[in-house]
Amino acid sequence: MTGRREKARIAIVGAGVSGICLAVKLKQAGIDDFVVYDRAEAVGGVWRENVYPGVSCDVPSRIYSFSFAPNPEWDSYFARGDEILSYLNKVVEEYGIGPHLRLGEEVAEARYTSGEWMVRTSRGVESRWDFLVCATGLLVQPALPELEGKSAYRGAMMHSAQWESGVETRGKRVAIIGTGATGTQMTCALAAETEHLYLFQRTAQWVFPKPALRYSTFAKRLHRVVPGFSRLADRFWRVVFQGTVSAAVVRPGWQRRLIAGVCRVSLRRVRSTELRRLLTPPDNPMCKRLVAASGFYRAVQRDNVTVIGEGIGRITERGILTCDGVEREADVIVFATGFRTDAFMRSMKIMGKSGRTLEDFWSNGPKAYQTVALPGFPNFFMLVGPNSPFSSESVMRIAETQSDYVLRWIELFRSGAVAEMSPTQEASDEFNELLRSGMPGTAFSSGCTSWYHDPQGNLMVWPWTVRAHHEMLSRIQPSHFDIR
Ligand code: NAP
Repeated sequence: MTGRREKARIAIVGAGVSGICLAVKLKQAGIDDFVVYDRAEAVGGVWRENVYPGVSCDVPSRIYSFSFAPNPEWDSYFARGDEILSYLNKVVEEYGIGPHLRLGEEVAEARYTSGEWMVRTSRGVESRWDFLVCATGLLVQPALPELEGKSAYRGAMMHSAQWESGVETRGKRVAIIGTGATGTQMTCALAAETEHLYLFQRTAQWVFPKPALRYSTFAKRLHRVVPGFSRLADRFWRVVFQGTVSAAVVRPGWQRRLIAGVCRVSLRRVRSTELRRLLTPPDNPMCKRLVAASGFYRAVQRDNVTVIGEGIGRITERGILTCDGVEREADVIVFATGFRTDAFMRSMKIMGKSGRTLEDFWSNGPKAYQTVALPGFPNFFMLVGPNSPFSSESVMRIAETQSDYVLRWIELFRSGAVAEMSPTQEASDEFNELLRSGMPGTAFSSGCTSWYHDPQGNLMVWPWTVRAHHEMLSRIQPSHFDIR
């Protein structure tokens, strides 16, 4: 055992929810020698990138906050994107994270060499660190379908995550491609203001009617001046969310039947049999990530909204031509077509011990040891990595659980007990085998495809309860690690 080290140098990549979370935890632990890189010029991750009309969260706002930073100011029961971004900026300011931020600095390469992580930014600046933590998010790289004729189109065309604020939609003809959470939210927000909205649907999705409720001034004041009330409210929402949604996705039972029933009843609000048939999904509720939106079925029944189930043939100069030969003219085309989850943590080049690349390690899809670490990549962690419980838990709380785990290792490093650690291949394989055996009971395994599957068709979700994830990471299992 070596002596106590004064310092642990930590590089965090990504200044979104999870990167900010770890940064605060490091500060709270009295660790100051860390930086947070982000290629963007501002913090916020997905909440900075996704500014499309109607962007909001489908997890109750009271639990979409860090436990160390409760927020009495939430305006909506399900917060809007701009509210969440303000909250994250406030956390950064209150906890003094600013001086640690390296914004506008993209990490191009990270290589483990001579017991350190060498990080090189795209500007060619190199630095060395004891730990590397990737908090780079899963839904980062827009998936844009290859469609013939895109270059000929004369209107405004963009992916939902690259929304151009100058683009006018009011009084215009807007085409949205995709009916996931994004396309659905956008439809609700734009239906009333567009001249005509065309929603191009490849596969119908179940939509849970999310209440569009806002906290009154009185309620906000109550949350602000009576912290006990605020804590109680947070606890209430946590129990409700975990007792219903989190439980429903991982095991059969009344919760799954209840949510499925609400979705089916909600769909009955569509009066036209033809439209209802078109909007009826081929799979069970929650097989794909459940879409929660306020007023979707009302929006699609408006006279100025058309849902198109016919496949897209190509983009034309004026709009979209479907396979049946019908052209719909549009001034704006939005691809709400999701993200490339196979590109997780890349384009960054990551090289572990003995020159092992992440590219090579993940050639058969992203896999991790207990959602946070990789064999052969010492002193390396991921936040909200593969198989994290993002389908059943607030990402803020996942980030907290995983940050606490990372911090435990950093403390061991500082104590001098550990200089280098990485999970063994056996422990990682065993964990992934266990994950596979847990999938059959989940709602996701009932026969559909979505971004929850890796390119090989394996589910990337967490098949057990949120508590099980928390318990797993509440202690280090030394026998699972190669430790120097
Ligand atoms: P998504 O769930 O992956 O949905 C993409 C949609 O685009 C699907 O309807 C898909 O159809 C369609 N699509 C993809 N390629 C297509 C093509 N070539 N032609 C026609 N349609 C195509 O993406 P998303 O809606 O952006 O949501 C991604 C995730 O972001 C969500 O699951 C959620 O985790 C997160 N999100 C969360 C919130 C929130 O409220 N917290 C809001 C927005 C997004 P198929 O179903 O046929 O593949």
